[in-house]
Amino acid sequence: MAGILHISEKELRGRIDQIIRFGWLTAPGALFVVLVANRLLPGGVPLPSLLGTIAGLAAGNALISLYCRHLDSLRAPQKRYFSLAHIQIVLNMVFLTVFLHFMGGLETPFFFFYLVYVVLASTLFPSTTSFAYAGLAVCLYHSLLIFEWLEIIPHYNLAGFRNPVRFQQPIHVFVTGFAMTITTFATAYFASSIVVRLRERERELTETNLFCETRGKELVRLNHRLQEMDKARSQFIRLVTHELRAPVAAIQSYLKLILDGYVPPDREREIIQRAEQRALDQLALIGDLLYVARLDEPEAKANVEALDLAVVLGEVSNLIRGQAESKALAFSVEIAPDLPLLEANLEHMKQLWTNLISNAIKYTMRGGVVAVSLSSNTEGIVGTVQDTGIGISPEDLPRIFEQFYRADNAKATERHGTGLGLSIAKRIVETYGGKIWAESEIGKGSIFSFLLPIRFFPHPLLNRIEQWRKE
Ligand code: ADP
Repeated sequence: MAGILHISEKELRGRIDQIIRFGWLTAPGALFVVLVANRLLPGGVPLPSLLGTIAGLAAGNALISLYCRHLDSLRAPQKRYFSLAHIQIVLNMVFLTVFLHFMGGLETPFFFFYLVYVVLASTLFPSTTSFAYAGLAVCLYHSLLIFEWLEIIPHYNLAGFRNPVRFQQPIHVFVTGFAMTITTFATAYFASSIVVRLRERERELTETNLFCETRGKELVRLNHRLQEMDKARSQFIRLVTHELRAPVAAIQSYLKLILDGYVPPDREREIIQRAEQRALDQLALIGDLLYVARLDEPEAKANVEALDLAVVLGEVSNLIRGQAESKALAFSVEIAPDLPLLEANLEHMKQLWTNLISNAIKYTMRGGVVAVSLSSNTEGIVGTVQDTGIGISPEDLPRIFEQFYRADNAKATERHGTGLGLSIAKRIVETYGGKIWAESEIGKGSIFSFLLPIRFFPHPLLNRIEQWRKE
């Protein structure tokens, strides 16, 4: 809004109240001055006219405060309050001029009261408006002096206080008017510049508060996230310790059986083989755990290259095909032509395919089918591994991507397993902004699918290039 300072509704209302309160104080104050003057200079002041002026001032103030309440009840916009403030300041200045006239015009020193209204205007309005009020004060006072000097209006002499001819001495009228003009404009200047500076500080403070509030919320959110991460870490350590302990305890008990002589010599080899198998389980678990730890290393995310996923799948399936053949599985790989390249870490992609395909082989009975396919759609590259294996029950399906989770039918089919393969696959896919999911029917088979968006670049530099391109 032009010509209006941006102050809060509450502050504006406070200022208006302040002006009204000041108006209420002015009336008794003026009355006091008049009574004292009348006492000191009996017959020197026109008492009825002065009392009438004061009554007019009080009535004007009463009307303004009533109107203000009316605006409150209407929940009127700020603009109306500003107009009210203008009316009140102008009214007070006019009453002051009338009061000065009856109090002897140039002879009374109360003209300094104009400054109070100029300061009040400076606290509410921009500097141009407070200068306009300074101008109004100067005009009103000068008109009074000139009209009295030219005898257009009568002059009331404060007999016994000032020389009656002073109001007609040009030098006196000029000096008084000049002093009043300079003082009024200087007051308007200083008051409004102080208010402007105060408002700037206030705005800065509000902005800082807002910033602190946002940062505070951010910190609370981060703290919450840290707590969650800490909880997940503790849970992971608990699970890892448990999983690591089991094979060591088994090995120790096998060895103890032999050492204590409970195993007949012809069965010793069998028990040692079992112990070895548990040691191998332990090694597999440690291997998977090391892999999980490596996934978090920054180098793993930085070491990306443009990969042809078809080539990666070809390499992995060649290595793994032997396992499928040893179980007489029908193993097929279908790759769509002209697949786009994917910016990814080679080891990650190999691990992803290996985990999914080896699971399919592991959990499919002899003579079953394992079919792998790779294609692309508008969202990215899609890989699927389908088998006719043991399947996953609806209760287990939502949990198979959790760390160390193994379904009962899987444990019954294949004793050895870490329960980490799928969680590693999920972590890899999510590193590249993709998703992985499974569909399955118990006893019939499963389909594991993943989607890797082609435009997602985990390498920081590639990410930035992508961002620039978008901008
Ligand atoms: P692991 O195979 O070592 O048990 P994974 O994390 O690779 O661990 O798999 C977690 C669980 O998901 C398995 O224990 C099994 O219950 C289930 N699962 C994974 N792949 C298949 C599959 N192809 N067919 C049936 N169940 C599967």
